[in-house]
Amino acid sequence: MIDLRSDTVTKPTPEMLSAMMSAPIGDDVFGEDPSINALQEKAALLFGMEDALFCPSGTMTNQIAISAHVGALEEIIVEKESHIYQYEGGGIFHNSRASVKLVDGENGKMTAEQVKSSINPDDIHKPVSVLVSLENTTNRGGGNIYSLSELKEIKKVVDENGLKLHLDGARVFNAIVEGDYSESDLGSIFDSISICLSKGLGCPVGSLLLGSKQFIRKARRIRKVLGGGMRQAGFLAQAGIYALDNHIERLKEDHLLAKAFESLLQEYSFIEKVIPVKTNIVIFHLKDSIDPQEFLSYLKSKEVLAVHFGEQAIRFVTHLDLATDTLKRVQSALNEFN
Ligand SMILES: *Cc1c(COP(=O)(O)O)cnc(C)c1O
Repeated sequence: MIDLRSDTVTKPTPEMLSAMMSAPIGDDVFGEDPSINALQEKAALLFGMEDALFCPSGTMTNQIAISAHVGALEEIIVEKESHIYQYEGGGIFHNSRASVKLVDGENGKMTAEQVKSSINPDDIHKPVSVLVSLENTTNRGGGNIYSLSELKEIKKVVDENGLKLHLDGARVFNAIVEGDYSESDLGSIFDSISICLSKGLGCPVGSLLLGSKQFIRKARRIRKVLGGGMRQAGFLAQAGIYALDNHIERLKEDHLLAKAFESLLQEYSFIEKVIPVKTNIVIFHLKDSIDPQEFLSYLKSKEVLAVHFGEQAIRFVTHLDLATDTLKRVQSALNEFN
């Protein structure tokens, strides 16, 4: 099977597995897992932030960040396609009781101007605007990247209005290897950052939340009540350490393959359009005459898995478990379609 459904389908490489098996471990609820402590310190240092917290998922790191920053009668500003709004089960209200202002951005990105005009005036009829959350790269936006200047403009608006800024950086390393900034540039812009180890970095489990010492103290409390305090999870943390050391630069290979898919897909008459490819996500729209479910069943019969991404859209995601003949094999499947 060629599994293009997500970059979460990857399994640990033999090298990652052997690193995991030799992990020193302890009880992390007592703060005594050396591998988790090392991973948290490593990630905090990398982003130039004070502290970090290892969690089971990116949904948890985002939801903890939101709960730590925002509460009842307050509001969070997010792009309408963002993961925290679309794919976290309504968790914003469930966990923090905050209200949400949705911004109609482009390919998952908001502009500083849009953020500015979304901030509520000091008016008792309105919730208090407290937090802005950005996604980089954007998932539903097709792996789109914020530039450093765009981030700085948003940061300026956020600061001028006394708000906080969170980054859903599930795929932030995909942005960093293509973008014009480093991890520490992002660390100096955001109040909190969530990163996923289980996406393109190829770990079986895990996300990290980064922020100030005080913020992470609060985050640790919230993780506990969500049931996210893990015990000897150092085996998983060791995979994260291995991935940060070995799997960041190679993301460029995933981007090259995604670019090759972009060119290939443009050749077929049954494809209406391909969203410009920036990183490892390829979203394309089928012509109205094609039933997306039939298209996916056909691909499956040819040993290719992909996902339906709303209306006529299909998503391919490239990742480190794809063989070198992936493009050729998908091409021959598409050539025989219809
Ligand atoms: C995958 C993802 C997350 C986190 O998802 P989990 O499955 O909970 O780890 C968060 N944000 C974005 C943009 C994602 O793509």
